[in-house]
Amino acid sequence: MIEIQGVTKRYGPRTAVEDVSLTAAPGRVTGFLGPNGAGKSTTLRVLLGLDRPTAGRALVDGVPYRDLRRPLRTVGAMLDGAGAVPERRGVDHLRWIAQTHRIPARRIEEVLDVVGLTDAARARVRTYSLGMRQRLGLAAALLGEPRVLVLDEPVNGLDPEGIRTVRTFLRDYAAQGNTVLLSSHLMGETAQTVDDVVVIDRGRVVTSGPLEEVTAGHAGLED
Ligand code: ADP
Ligand code: ADP
Repeated sequence: MIEIQGVTKRYGPRTAVEDVSLTAAPGRVTGFLGPNGAGKSTTLRVLLGLDRPTAGRALVDGVPYRDLRRPLRTVGAMLDGAGAVPERRGVDHLRWIAQTHRIPARRIEEVLDVVGLTDAARARVRTYSLGMRQRLGLAAALLGEPRVLVLDEPVNGLDPEGIRTVRTFLRDYAAQGNTVLLSSHLMGETAQTVDDVVVIDRGRVVTSGPLEEVTAGHAGLED
């Protein structure tokens, strides 16, 4: 369960997000949708404790991210690609995270299989396409078998088949009782993945609710 309550974030005189509130519930895929620059990444960074909010708070299962006892076992996150060192091999990136967070090594083969990177795991990250980097980021997010997944633009750079694969995976993951929050600037595409929608524009939430209700009131959401 994710609860973002009245989060405002200013960078100097610039307001990135203003009084943003949203809930992402277990068993559902929640889409955080809005154009580039709307404030999605800023909100997710606050949620993950990477940025301190100017006002408001963000909770995962009732506590701020930084207070989670075993963060990677609770929240799997993918922001802005994999964040992997280009000269490292994909599998070593995952090994390093697993060791740092005391996650059993057997999980590495499991998550590589889930994202379809088993064959490429021994190649260096610098040789990866954007889609492969995205898949490595998703694999890293899944290592700790988290109850909550937070993904910033997870299908960027994937081909249509890759998008379908990720979509099916995320729907199954949520159906097992997990919470999935994903951001996207592609509204029409994401509509096929999500149960609930939060639309943000120029730093403010403009509408939110179950997909059917939100699209009924906003025909323009289909891109
Ligand atoms: P989105 O993820 O929806 O594309 P962002 O959260 O990245 O939007 O950006 C929201 C706004 O905040 C933009 O106007 C952006 O320029 C600004 N912003 C984001 N991060 C910073 C930062 N570190 N310093 C200054 N402004 C920032
Ligand atoms: P490219 O190397 O041309 O950029 P991608 O790396 O985006 O291609 O994807 C290659 C193939 O891997 C896709 O056609 C798709 O079948 C599969 N794929 C992509 N992303 C995922 C994912 N997250 N999980 C599982 N399979 C994926």
